[in-house]
Amino acid sequence: MRMTTTWTTAIVASLAISGITGAAAASAASAPQMQTQTQSQTRAGSAFVAADGHTYDYASGTTSDPRAAALLAKVRSLLPADWRARQAAALSRFGVEPSAAQDALGRAIDPTQYQCAPTRLDAFVDGIIADIDPSSLFVLSMLGGFDFPTYDALLFGSQGDALHALTKSSRNELTSSFRAAQKFWDTDGSDIQLMAMHGDVMRDPARLTRLIAVLYGVPDSDAAELAGLVVDVVTSDPGLDGGDNPIFTLNAFAFSGAGDPDPIISSLPDKLVFGDGILEALDAIGVGDVGPRAVLGHEYGHHVQYDKDLFASPLTGPEATRRTELMADAFGTYFVTHKRGLALNTKRVLEAEQSFYQVGDCSFTSAGHHGTPNQRLRASTWGASVAADAQKQGQVLPSLTLDSRFESVLPQFVAPDA
Ligand SMILES: [Zn+2]
Repeated sequence: MRMTTTWTTAIVASLAISGITGAAAASAASAPQMQTQTQSQTRAGSAFVAADGHTYDYASGTTSDPRAAALLAKVRSLLPADWRARQAAALSRFGVEPSAAQDALGRAIDPTQYQCAPTRLDAFVDGIIADIDPSSLFVLSMLGGFDFPTYDALLFGSQGDALHALTKSSRNELTSSFRAAQKFWDTDGSDIQLMAMHGDVMRDPARLTRLIAVLYGVPDSDAAELAGLVVDVVTSDPGLDGGDNPIFTLNAFAFSGAGDPDPIISSLPDKLVFGDGILEALDAIGVGDVGPRAVLGHEYGHHVQYDKDLFASPLTGPEATRRTELMADAFGTYFVTHKRGLALNTKRVLEAEQSFYQVGDCSFTSAGHHGTPNQRLRASTWGASVAADAQKQGQVLPSLTLDSRFESVLPQFVAPDA
């Protein structure tokens, strides 16, 4: 079973910024902002002092903020003593990449070797976080709340279910591109369900109760109390916009549970899920024209990998993830620029990809490492050039042929940028 995300790293970088300097970072000029980001990421595990003067220690779960401390005490009273281990186990069980805050605080990086400059996307993420009360951010993060819409879509969403229907503004484009991908690739994608995830689950006690019960393995009565607490936090903080703040859904992912030994996971259908937040972000950074289709191409690339068993390699840890992510970048760009795929303008696709690859994924030691911006752009540019060559003959390469060509050029993509 695999599941993969595209956008987590964006939140990570900005949460780290926000954790150290609060809203002030959002208005900082680029150079100091980058410095702040670097600084915060090298202080992994330490307690952050937010703009409100309170200390929030994401590693230990302690805070000097009385409101957040009281909420967490309530959370602890409703959950078993090993609740944080259960949270981690759920992430691993369902293949959900660690949530932004936890990941941000646990990483060490070496920013000197690679280029990771702050971007328009960082500014967007800073903007959506700036108005959130640090207290809410902390409590929700501790509880794993920023992953709740992901779990909801993963566990309970289905294509055609009204709660996970694509919004009107993206429905036609995503649906037709998805169908084109199903036809383009030599894999059976007929069982993949395309759906949305919306933040409204964050204010829905019944839906939160069922997912909290699964995540933490607690009785429904305790799950319902926790759900009520989450709804209170989400609806009382205007910065969270009742769950509609894009931070809750700033993600798209491909999921397959096929062959997983866990019967609950293997019973879930293959999915390709688009968060409202990611679509909003793509618009905000000026790539609303081709961005969503490029993301769809990437995520569908992961489904090709599931189908053809391309996740297996001698690599492990971050290098293994980087390989499959760069492959998804290459496969996705191959599909969206190929004449028999989406036939999008190559120059425009690469421009758009460049702006969202520059998310600043400098977390080289993270298991979720997607590759640096330059590595990702190299992989995509390569995918587009293979499409340009292939389409002269009007052919779509078998996915395994494309993979073997990819494996032979991968070492060039991952050479250090310096
Ligand atoms: Zn991916």
